Amino acid sequence: MSTQDIPSGDEFSTPLIQWYRVNKRDLPWRDAGNPYHIWLSEVMLQQTRVDQALPYYLRFIERFPTIFDLANAETHDVLVAWEGLGYYSRGRNLHEAAKTVVEQYNGKIPDNWDDIRQLKGVGDYTAAAVLSIAYNKPYAVVDGNVLRVLSRYLGIQDDIRQLSVRRFIQNVVSEWIPEDAPADFNQAMMDLGAGICSPKKPSCNACPVQHSCVANATLQTDIIPYKSKAKKVPHHTIVVGIIIDQNDRLLIAKRPETVMLGGLWEFPGGKVEENETLEEALKREILEELGVSIRAIQPFHTLKHAYSHFKITLHAFTCRIENGNPEAKSSTDIKWVSRAELSDFPFPKANRKLTDLLQKTV
Ligand code: SF4
Repeated sequence: MSTQDIPSGDEFSTPLIQWYRVNKRDLPWRDAGNPYHIWLSEVMLQQTRVDQALPYYLRFIERFPTIFDLANAETHDVLVAWEGLGYYSRGRNLHEAAKTVVEQYNGKIPDNWDDIRQLKGVGDYTAAAVLSIAYNKPYAVVDGNVLRVLSRYLGIQDDIRQLSVRRFIQNVVSEWIPEDAPADFNQAMMDLGAGICSPKKPSCNACPVQHSCVANATLQTDIIPYKSKAKKVPHHTIVVGIIIDQNDRLLIAKRPETVMLGGLWEFPGGKVEENETLEEALKREILEELGVSIRAIQPFHTLKHAYSHFKITLHAFTCRIENGNPEAKSSTDIKWVSRAELSDFPFPKANRKLTDLLQKTV
């Protein structure tokens, strides 16, 4: 596929934009033209559906109404507001980027590609979305929805995971995005992908481009977009210790900023190694992480959780310290907290299920 293969875009973009102007979703960040709100919404919507992100968005805006409020906030408070949305690096990066916007651009989110791409966590997608929707600049967004719509519309038979296919589609939409309506074009693509050209059973009868869509005409909507088989997702067995002291306080540890789920709090523990029992793994992990030995180990709860690239089965045990004073050897901080205080700290989802149970079982 080369750029010479790109068909004319009018047949696609004209009915698409007309349809959007009548049918667009009523979303709180739309139409007000507030670049901070648009940016926040685009960051939250990466890997997250609109209906899931919406309550978080509204709470976040209430907590940090302007980019100055966000820039001046403590990371802890940003992570608490982000908790439950997952992919926490998005929240941390947004916070860092907000500080840069305030310090270097006087609180105005840059309106040009080079500057906005320098902000932490702002990739091609977010840059194109903010520049087009907030500033009406003709940068086309390409995400999973756009890849699906365009691969069907053009009848692309190749695997959409291939970089060459993604580049081709990027070239097509960059060519087709109208200079006079880039915000509507991109948002129309988002709405079409989310509501009409859905992954399974697209509603082609309601689609504004049904008459020129190859997949619709050739009855291939169930095989396009073509994807080769995904690799098997790895699974890890995890143990964590809920260490309780004589005053019924619990020990929690803060994850380093540089790792996955960085800056969040958790119960100490880690991966079970081959040929290790759960109890052996727990004792080893607690010794490595805190420098203490434990006793009175009792099973508390077992749960399963899926991250984007792996799955875990997490076994939680309650226990007591047998020997030593705990130190933050592999975390950045540790704290003894009451069960009620667990709600004041941001936890990853799997650990949050444990804190909820702990607060119910006083
Ligand atoms: S006609 Fe159907 S397959 Fe083609 S773009 Fe529209 S919804 Fe998707």
